[in-house]
Amino acid sequence: MNERLLKAVEDRVDDLVALTADLIRFPTVNPPGEAYAPCAEFLGARLRKRGFETEFVRAEGAPGDSDRYPRVNVVARFDGRSPGPCVHFNSHIDVVEAGDGWTVDPFAGVVKDGRVYGRGACDMKGGLAASVIAVEAFMDVYPDFPGAIEISGTADEESGGFGGVAHLARLGYFSKPKVDHVIIPEPLNKDRICLGHRGVWWAEIETKGEIAHGSMPFLGDNAVRHMGAVLQAFEDELFPALDRKMTRMPVVPEGAKRSTMNINSIHGGQTEDFRPGLPSPNVPDWCRLTIDRRFLLEEDIATVKGEVTGILERLKRERKKFDYEIRDLMEVLPLMTERDAPVVKAVAKGIMEVFDREPDYVISPGTYDQKHVARIGHLYDCIAYGPGILDLAHRPDEWVGIADMVESAKVMAIGLNVLLRGTAG
Ligand SMILES: [Zn+2]
Repeated sequence: MNERLLKAVEDRVDDLVALTADLIRFPTVNPPGEAYAPCAEFLGARLRKRGFETEFVRAEGAPGDSDRYPRVNVVARFDGRSPGPCVHFNSHIDVVEAGDGWTVDPFAGVVKDGRVYGRGACDMKGGLAASVIAVEAFMDVYPDFPGAIEISGTADEESGGFGGVAHLARLGYFSKPKVDHVIIPEPLNKDRICLGHRGVWWAEIETKGEIAHGSMPFLGDNAVRHMGAVLQAFEDELFPALDRKMTRMPVVPEGAKRSTMNINSIHGGQTEDFRPGLPSPNVPDWCRLTIDRRFLLEEDIATVKGEVTGILERLKRERKKFDYEIRDLMEVLPLMTERDAPVVKAVAKGIMEVFDREPDYVISPGTYDQKHVARIGHLYDCIAYGPGILDLAHRPDEWVGIADMVESAKVMAIGLNVLLRGTAG
């Protein structure tokens, strides 16, 4: 059993709370990417005191990177006494904007009623703090451990991770032999292991028309009406078909076990403020629609795209003057780490010991930085595991429970012990 390790985590509860609050006090709001450098430096300074080597990597040229808003990432590494695998804890340091509806200051790190409140408390500064405490407790109990431990604080996860994990992965920070196992402490709940996520395809569809005077629409060709036909076909054919596709992936919540598609936006025609308060008097000659299609492990992306282009092509044959263009905006393939992967088994052992039950294995409805670890770093022994309730993320009065952070830090410490010392106790 891991009694000394668990006790070492418990002894650090005040430190854990203080660290979480300190991290929340950096308003690392993205966009625009505020306060990344001081937050990364704060984390690096703490770990340097514990003997970690720290590197600060700015993602120059990444979307949003500028001297005013530098995309600064910190990677800290501690090599143990003897060779062995490397376990990497990766957390994003960026948070989404606070928005309205808060009853506490979102960047004060308020502690009350057994919770730490603030923007990013749950997503994911609480998870970052829990991983730091887990690592420090483990190092104190087993100072002679083999292998290596890395902790990174990375930028821009909320906007796709291009200036964060994707950038580092391109530089080799998320590949063997440097790193073997990756744990991302996103708020998936303390007793669940997140194995991956569904796929994503974002696209923009444009229908074409011909401008004419609004009093004589028959002289032009209305692009918005053409888009109406597209939407009608989606309603009649595509949405019902998507709803029938169920996955074997354990996606949560239940509704996300099916294929889904969101219509993100639709815009068409000339200005709505041609004269103050009055729209353009013209027939719209363009209309643009963006879609966000989330797909399953059982679907391949060519088929996913073909379902949409098939409808557009058919309309082109059947509907007079119908013409369109379609542009890919983003694509991410679905991802699922196997349940018998070493990092999954190690964290599962921790959950069994701390909660006396098997973990739930889940798949996230949306993507997160694991995609870059897999696709760019070619490292597949990666999961998301961390404290916090996902539903609280991005909402007013976001909080993380102190007891939840302590318990998940215990799970992470046991996971480390299994991966580095090859023992569950
Ligand atoms: Zn997150």
